[in-house]
Amino acid sequence: MKSLFTRRLLVVIYRGSLGFRRYLCAMLIKSAKYVISSPGYEKCPVPDRPEYAFIGRSNVGKSSLINMLCDNEKLAKTSSAPGKTQLLNHFIIESTNSPTGDGAGGKNQKRASWYLVDLPGYGFAKVSQRSRRRWEQMIENYLRKRENLTMVFVLIDARHSPQKIDLEFLDQLKVWQVPFTLVFTKSDKENQRTVSKNVKDFSEAMKKTWQVLPQHFVTSALKKTGKDKILAFIDETNSSL
Ligand code: GDP
Repeated sequence: MKSLFTRRLLVVIYRGSLGFRRYLCAMLIKSAKYVISSPGYEKCPVPDRPEYAFIGRSNVGKSSLINMLCDNEKLAKTSSAPGKTQLLNHFIIESTNSPTGDGAGGKNQKRASWYLVDLPGYGFAKVSQRSRRRWEQMIENYLRKRENLTMVFVLIDARHSPQKIDLEFLDQLKVWQVPFTLVFTKSDKENQRTVSKNVKDFSEAMKKTWQVLPQHFVTSALKKTGKDKILAFIDETNSSL
């Protein structure tokens, strides 16, 4: 395997070019299974495959997005069960890459296996200083040290104008040099004009501290939009490693 730094650099470079690509391949999830909830990165499963982590404010729609991506309405419930909200929750995903027009049973299919990680969210209203510090320490360690971490999807509620707490989290990712992609959630809850404005305003707010803007996706778990693009992006990223 390439070193963590090399892989991250490749992903960042690749991500830069991806924005101009057409998504040629669809990804089909063959199975998605809960593996383990860990209190810290040291206890996570052996880092033997690419890993994609999902994080955002509490209630941003993370469980719904994960369930939509995996076509399993109950999957992320496991991780939001009481007592597991402050843990790193791993799911193992088996997928195939299905070239367009080749159908699910095509000969050119490539199988892939990767981890999806449901990270405990930030911005809980009633959280003690102590648990907040614990969260910060755990997330920082995980994001900086998890060697197979390939990409973090940061979820942003598409209904709102840019929120300080999200922008600050992204600035923190920059300090830690963690590659990330934005996923705007709940887009069905507002009209398209408002969603586009919120996405644009978010980009503008980021420009104050970022020179290059990340890839972003607009999704709705209710309408199942954005799923194919995110899965294709993961598939392309897996292929580039
Ligand atoms: P989490 O706390 O970030 O895991 O958020 P959940 O996935 O539990 O979602 C929080 C609330 O928002 C739930 O009531 C969901 O049904 C709702 N929700 C999540 N995603 C969407 C979406 O895309 N559209 C709509 N209309 N509601 C959503």
